[in-house]
Amino acid sequence: MQYNYDFEIASLLIMTIILLHFVCIRQFPGEKTKAFGMFLVTCTAECAANIISSIGLANAALVPQFANELLAFAFFALEGLASYLLFCYFMVVCRYEGRKRKLVRVFGAVPFAFFCIMLALTPFLGFFYYFKDGAYHQGFGAGFGYAYIAYFFLLNIILIVRRRSVVNLRTKWIVSIYTAVAIAMIVIQYHVRGVLLTSVGNTVVLLMLYLELQNPSEHLDSVTGIGNESAFEMQLKKRLAGKAEGTVMTIHLRKFHYIHTVVGLDNSNELLRQVGAYLYRLCGKFHVFYMAGDLFAVFADTAEDRERIEAAVWKRFDEEWVVQENRILLNIEMVIQHYPADFDTAAEFFGMRQFLLEEAAKSGLAESIETDEDLVEQYHRRRKIELAVAAAIRDKSFEVYYQPVYSLREKRIVSLEALVRLHDEELGYISPEEFIPLAERDGNIIHIGAQVLEECCRFLSRHVLSNLSLGIRTVHVNISMAQCLQQNLTETIAPVLEKYHIPPSMLTLEITERTAITTPERMLRHMKELGKMGVSFAMDDYGSGNANCSYLIRFPFQEIKIDKAIVWAAFEDEKARIVLENEIKTIQRLGIPLVIEGVERREQSEMAEKLGVDYIQGYYYGRPLPEQECLRYIRSFNSVPENYARQ
Ligand code: C2E
Ligand code: CA
Ligand code: CA
Repeated sequence: MQYNYDFEIASLLIMTIILLHFVCIRQFPGEKTKAFGMFLVTCTAECAANIISSIGLANAALVPQFANELLAFAFFALEGLASYLLFCYFMVVCRYEGRKRKLVRVFGAVPFAFFCIMLALTPFLGFFYYFKDGAYHQGFGAGFGYAYIAYFFLLNIILIVRRRSVVNLRTKWIVSIYTAVAIAMIVIQYHVRGVLLTSVGNTVVLLMLYLELQNPSEHLDSVTGIGNESAFEMQLKKRLAGKAEGTVMTIHLRKFHYIHTVVGLDNSNELLRQVGAYLYRLCGKFHVFYMAGDLFAVFADTAEDRERIEAAVWKRFDEEWVVQENRILLNIEMVIQHYPADFDTAAEFFGMRQFLLEEAAKSGLAESIETDEDLVEQYHRRRKIELAVAAAIRDKSFEVYYQPVYSLREKRIVSLEALVRLHDEELGYISPEEFIPLAERDGNIIHIGAQVLEECCRFLSRHVLSNLSLGIRTVHVNISMAQCLQQNLTETIAPVLEKYHIPPSMLTLEITERTAITTPERMLRHMKELGKMGVSFAMDDYGSGNANCSYLIRFPFQEIKIDKAIVWAAFEDEKARIVLENEIKTIQRLGIPLVIEGVERREQSEMAEKLGVDYIQGYYYGRPLPEQECLRYIRSFNSVPENYARQ
């Protein structure tokens, strides 16, 4: 029989172009790319086999029958394989992984295996086709062939529907459209048997996949032309899955946003291009990635590579980069992480990298920071603390301890400072010095602050207001920078005071110098609003920052708390003593009451008394205690003040 294969030739042409483009362009080797490549090659070969087979059949008189039989066999084998490979591609697109993928694969592998057996038997049984007098005829099982193809269409649709939450809208459209096209092709083919249309459907699928899902620029950064973050993650996962060993080096361009504002967008993009091109030359294909913003990442496969790259990068960044007429010196930080020793998932890599970048930024040194056991341990501890904080916020399990503040004039405890406590089953007691800065960084401090204030007000209403003979006039609560940055600080505090019927004059908010100077305008507004209600403010840790007296004039503080480190230094060192004495005199002349922190010994207390300090907070007069213990302590202390001394 004479077949018209014009459509197949057009299809072959298009497929060959896609194939050439696919091979020539810089494709990032990933699972999806590999699955697509296999499908593409199979479809192209199937199309070629179909054309050659048609030519062979048209010239049956010249071509030996076994050659035509072989071509028909090849065409069927490739057609069966193409359906199965397209299903495999969608398994990747639908992000079936591990055990789930193995299970899903069975739904494709079993019919495919059955197809292979039937095809292998076809030359003997004539299942799909048979040859008689040199002519090709459909076999008794030809219907199974159609059912097989229809089954895979259906299977792909089921995959997409089941995984609709992880599959994007485009993929859903592509699958719907190509299914409709393929069904139309089968119907047309059924009516116009003499015209071959098999590959038209495949070409439509390939084109749609290649242009949309398999878009090569998906993994390329448009500015630098090197791999982007998603390409990096893909590579990293591949390496981790393959149990490979190696190093990831992250290069952070310090202050790049500042350079951007100085030289403009075009020039800073040109700079990134130059850095990308330099690293690409240095490290090779599929090894360099631009992670957006100011980060480049590089893979080094061997220890020698790592040393070579590290040395070359530091040397290159010691020199200037020339963009137009600008000569730019780029300062960098380099973070070096080893796999699988330091991390075994991509998420862990990113978390640890962030931690190391922050560590490197803190030091400010132009040196590489490389993971070692100590840093990995620190990172894991930090992660655990972050989780413990999140859990404590959720379960409202923070405790509040109260530390007495002693009045030197009245010789009794007159106020308390509320100090938050966190206990974790695994880590035990976690110091606020450790978790408060982390909570400040991720915004959780707002929740902690709210819980401490609520707990503190509950304590006041239940135990202090009803027991005025205790002699506690105020409670000090620490307020973090993030809380002060809130527009509505007053609205977060006033309702809590109201709820527990606490007179605002019983509350003193402690803020640090750093907080005051970061948001002076807003802070002043908060102080005015809350001050009007009767809330007081104390400057905490005075002397640990700039100890700039101008803040004392500018802000209406009712109390200044001198940092314990300064107090301790004054005992060790004559010069520090002079500085402390002068600071105390200045504050006294301004008429602001003074608290000294960290008094642990009798001599320290006596010195404070001599200097005319008003209040003392320190272990000598009481440690932070849970509420009941603290109440017992105050009761016994205030009634028999001579017994206070804890030597
Ligand atoms: P801070 O506000 O300066 O609190 C005083 C710290 O000094 C407390 O440490 C207290 O236990 C300790 N301290 C007091 N007297 C002595 C002493 O004589 N010797 C020694 N060695 N230490 C003494 P703590 O409770 O570990 O708190 C540390 C820091 O954590 C606090 O410093 C404060 O900045 C922060 N913090 C604690 N609770 C809260 C809170 O509820 N909110 C906020 N934002 N920060 C808090
Ligand atoms: Ca404090
Ligand atoms: Ca303090």
